[in-house]
Amino acid sequence: MTAMIPFNRPTLVGNELEYIRSAVAGGHSASKGPFTGQVTSLLKEDLGAHDVLLTTSCTGALEMAAMLIDPRPGDVVIVPSFTFVSTALAFAREGFRLRFADIEPVTLGLDPHSVADLIDDRVRAIVPVHYAGIGCEIAAITQLAASHGISVIEDNAHGLFGSLGGQPLGSFGVMSTLSFHETKNFVCGEGGALVINDSALVDRAHVLLDKGTNRRSFERGVVDKYTWCDDGSSFGLSDLLAAFLLAQLECRDAVLLAREAATERYDRMLHGLVEPFGVEFGRKPPDRVSAFHMYYLLMPSKAVRDAVLHRMHADGVIATFHYVPLHRSPGAVRHLDGLVPELPVTDDISGRLLRLPFYTDIDHATQSAVVGSLTEALQQAC
Ligand SMILES: *Cc1c(COP(=O)(O)O)cnc(C)c1O
Repeated sequence: MTAMIPFNRPTLVGNELEYIRSAVAGGHSASKGPFTGQVTSLLKEDLGAHDVLLTTSCTGALEMAAMLIDPRPGDVVIVPSFTFVSTALAFAREGFRLRFADIEPVTLGLDPHSVADLIDDRVRAIVPVHYAGIGCEIAAITQLAASHGISVIEDNAHGLFGSLGGQPLGSFGVMSTLSFHETKNFVCGEGGALVINDSALVDRAHVLLDKGTNRRSFERGVVDKYTWCDDGSSFGLSDLLAAFLLAQLECRDAVLLAREAATERYDRMLHGLVEPFGVEFGRKPPDRVSAFHMYYLLMPSKAVRDAVLHRMHADGVIATFHYVPLHRSPGAVRHLDGLVPELPVTDDISGRLLRLPFYTDIDHATQSAVVGSLTEALQQAC
């Protein structure tokens, strides 16, 4: 029995505590303070965005995106079923009906063919996810959307600093969202961002974040009164957390390099499992640069996957499954547009997928122990 190996561990990478101290000393701890400004500039520049608004979570950013689409009763959004709840929930909460599309088996992102089958004139938005930080078939999806006047909003919770054809993930849709939750590549406890790629949406996005007020126009001297003028909520991230986040993002190159190195170590240690056990690796088309968010494998069957997880947990190695399909979940049923769909790839993949412990400073010895436990578990299960 090895010492317990956690699934995830957030890492302090730079000046986090120093910047928090300085944020406290500066006295601006609410949203839109100086550290928020610095994070915003960094992300705007790297993503080539018109604006970036820091939010309390990716879920909040998705809610803002849904509000910015301004749904009419009966409007529909197409989302994957193989995703975190928030991708669907944020839109359902704003009154959208949900249509779930299947994923394709290479990137585990939305399958453009499945999306195309669901399009009609009630569809207002499509929300692809770049699973594990590898770009989905976003070009085909944006093309399809453009030809029907539909908005694409990328849920880019996994993919910050990944790219496709040299273009950053999160810059393809009219908007995209980020997560800085403690389980993601760059963290501040809880946090997120709404990335805006269409200048026409910037002003209203600030009103939504400022509790429905025109506070930003007032502060800029554009209006002389500051009033309630639209919907909104308290979506803004505290500047104390933005301070922590800035330190994390300043180390983005080192974080990505460390995660890439850890990925390559697993690849080397694991390639011998393909032949004897029928294990499949995640795949990355050659035009994509990964954000290295996680390390997953596909087991030959759900029964093997479940047995392997059980054995590894008994060893103290916290490997995990991932998304339980949303399209049959009780929370989705009342928002579903039509009948529960058949999504064979989603069902198959979610039954066989296994994620190994993976975090920025995971080391060789820990990864060897993980692979040892996995190999023994496979020998017993197959
Ligand atoms: C983590 C995650 C979210 C939610 O992020 P929060 O910041 O916790 O709200 C949404 N979508 C995906 C794909 C995620 O992985």
